[in-house]
Amino acid sequence: MEKEKIVVIGTGPAGLTAALYLARANLEPLVISGNQLGGQISITSEVENYPGFPEGTTGPELVELMQKQAERFGARLLIDEVTEVDFHSGPPFTIKTYGETIESQAAIIATGASPKRLGVPGEQEMIGRGVSFCATCDGFFFRGKDVVVIGGGDSAIEEGIFLTRFASQVRVIHRREGLRAGETLKRRALANPKMDFVWNTIVEEIVGNGKVEGIVTRHIQSGVKERIVTDGVFIFIGHYPNTDLFRGHLTMDDQGYLITDKHMLTSVPGVFAAGEVQDPIYRQIVSSAGQGCQAAMSAERWLQARE
Ligand code: NAP
Repeated sequence: MEKEKIVVIGTGPAGLTAALYLARANLEPLVISGNQLGGQISITSEVENYPGFPEGTTGPELVELMQKQAERFGARLLIDEVTEVDFHSGPPFTIKTYGETIESQAAIIATGASPKRLGVPGEQEMIGRGVSFCATCDGFFFRGKDVVVIGGGDSAIEEGIFLTRFASQVRVIHRREGLRAGETLKRRALANPKMDFVWNTIVEEIVGNGKVEGIVTRHIQSGVKERIVTDGVFIFIGHYPNTDLFRGHLTMDDQGYLITDKHMLTSVPGVFAAGEVQDPIYRQIVSSAGQGCQAAMSAERWLQARE
């Protein structure tokens, strides 16, 4: 059994920032990567709103820099996934991964959020065969092809604009008449000659035979159904928090987000949380990083008070 002072679960901006602060406090944190090192930003194409990068940067570059910075001060990265936790008894708490069983005096949960699914026929079967949740990962495969983007928030519009680099046409299908995305993105998208918009419309089915061939849509007001021919369906309709592991251990709201106090403490003393796993509101790289810093500082004080 590995014995640790503190374990950080998750390696997005919240987890890596927590790791940096804990490492600089000489706590030698063990940081468990999860199934996607870097979390959501590792599949984010362009990052233009993280301070300090006036020309913008990419998600993967930012992850690499954050990881290097945390490791420079002594954070230890474990490439593995947490499979089970026991926060009922302890501290020490027990954290199991596929490869290890770890005992830790404290923990910071930064497991982030995952993309929501439409839940329509064809979606699950054709993931990786034309259905995608990541333009950065899959955009290249749609060179010269037509794709649709589902959603009208910042993610849909940002990723839709990115897809115009490859696709010949990007059709945004949105259930309202007007985008929810911020003004700058909205302006860019509406002016982009490769993008067009289908309003007040939902997707009822994704059709294809082994790969996507089209979608069936329904106009919300008229009820009229239409079949749109397309090679790719990119879905950006929001996220849900990755908290299944913590059910029954930590208090959550009705959407499954962990509830934290202003010290980023969860319902269990010694277990802190940061980033999108507990933040359904701001969900920015910079706000997640800030919460990671807060959680680390609180955890450090909490550990010190127990000594
Ligand atoms: P979001 O803001 O929650 O937008 C989700 C979009 O999907 C909305 O337009 C929503 O429609 C639509 N939608 C939800 N469920 C749907 C369904 N079942 N079928 C069809 N459409 C559905 O999510 P997001 O775009 O992922 O953004 C999340 C957060 O991250 C936001 O705070 C955003 O500002 C932030 N973000 C920021 C940036 C940036 O600043 N560059 C980039 C990406 C994300 P309704 O409008 O009708 O609800």
